[in-house]
Amino acid sequence: MPEQTVTQWTRPQWDQYIQQVNDSVTYPEISSHQPLRPAFPTITYTCPVCLYTQSGIDLVQSENGETFTATWRDCEHRVSVPIVDEIPPPSFLHDPVLTARFHCPRHCSWSYDEFPSLEPAAPIRLRARAQASTLTEALAGVTQEDITAAITTAADERDRAFRARLKDAYARHYAQAHPGITAPTPAAP
Ligand SMILES: [Zn+2]
Ligand SMILES: [Zn+2]
Repeated sequence: MPEQTVTQWTRPQWDQYIQQVNDSVTYPEISSHQPLRPAFPTITYTCPVCLYTQSGIDLVQSENGETFTATWRDCEHRVSVPIVDEIPPPSFLHDPVLTARFHCPRHCSWSYDEFPSLEPAAPIRLRARAQASTLTEALAGVTQEDITAAITTAADERDRAFRARLKDAYARHYAQAHPGITAPTPAAP
């Protein structure tokens, strides 16, 4: 059989396909050594190129760990899909203060700690009157809605700062320990 060309897929395309065939594939299952998908006798894989239904698909991680190739076993049609690392949910410790510990999705020993209870609250900013001599005068026009909005803004700022720190920590760790692999970023709120 002639060598088939490799089609580039996005991760969402792959996720949608794997959902359609009722399978589930996560990163650690994809091996660079063993190009075999564990046998699920009830699952059949319809090749999206030739529409031929077959019982097996081989998943092989690329050498740089950035992508994997899925090969439909009978027709040998192939797609290349990016491996996307995701930040796993943290584990919480009292060490002695509350610590949110984030681990590396690549199962190395690195971790990054956040201390939610030690973090200063973001300042709450209210619109004040410029020509006022006392605080009461300055805040005379401030309504309950203004205060609620200011608290929301402060919480958003705090969240943005937290996500920036997390993104930074993973970026630095990946650059050092997993060069060439795209560092995961915090999911959008
Ligand atoms: Zn095919
Ligand atoms: Zn790591």
